[in-house]
Amino acid sequence: MPEIIINDQRIQAEEHKPLIETLRKQGIEVPALCYHPALSPAGECRLCAVQAVYPDKPAQIKLSCVIKPVEGMEIHTDNDQVQRARTTAFRNLAKFAPESTKIRRMAEKHGIDMGPPPDECIRCRLCIRACRELVGANALKIEKRNGTRYIVPRAGNRCIGCGTCASICPTGAIRQEDQNGLRVIYIRDEIIGQNPLIQCESCGRYFATPKFLSRIEQRTGDHPHVKEHHRYCPTCAKLLSDRIKSASRMKKI
Ligand code: SF4
Repeated sequence: MPEIIINDQRIQAEEHKPLIETLRKQGIEVPALCYHPALSPAGECRLCAVQAVYPDKPAQIKLSCVIKPVEGMEIHTDNDQVQRARTTAFRNLAKFAPESTKIRRMAEKHGIDMGPPPDECIRCRLCIRACRELVGANALKIEKRNGTRYIVPRAGNRCIGCGTCASICPTGAIRQEDQNGLRVIYIRDEIIGQNPLIQCESCGRYFATPKFLSRIEQRTGDHPHVKEHHRYCPTCAKLLSDRIKSASRMKKI
């Protein structure tokens, strides 16, 4: 049995077996996804990287599922070089499987920073600009959290629940959910705004939030028809408006 040094400890290694077997036997946790003891090693996931120092050779990063113990070799399983190699390997795997919680959990367990989880937001700021420039609510901002920029709601419950940000978002990262008379606007699992919906006085459909309607009222001045019909959904308001128009035409005839 070859004698090797693992993390400054001399041990008798498993002869003719991949190094990862010795490491595991010693209770050293080495991440690996493509290794199976019943199959020939492939070194595809590259997570099981270790630093190996062969006698009279410089230190190198090697895959512990591929190399076999050699008398006098020195192995490090948790230094900066190993962490760097594993970080690269974890991030490469996450590119293939960005939704995999298993990969993220494994990386976390091994102290690897995987960066922010994908949230579909491309940081184009269309939502922020639309909310400020078109709606006038200014309910969104960009904020740095753990070194990464995120779209987040501004403090003060400013969202009026108009849904413009959800409609204009080019990747669908912002969601609008209308349920049981409530409109909730989300990004990731974070609530941007939560507003009750009111029902159309004609058809009974939930269609808009009171805050949004009062914003429309403020912006549209004193147009008599708009004021008069502001509790109707767009479809019913249109029908009513058409009826009023044709009634006034009839009067003129
Ligand atoms: S739903 Fe809220 S956050 Fe989105 S544009 Fe309207 S006011 Fe702004």
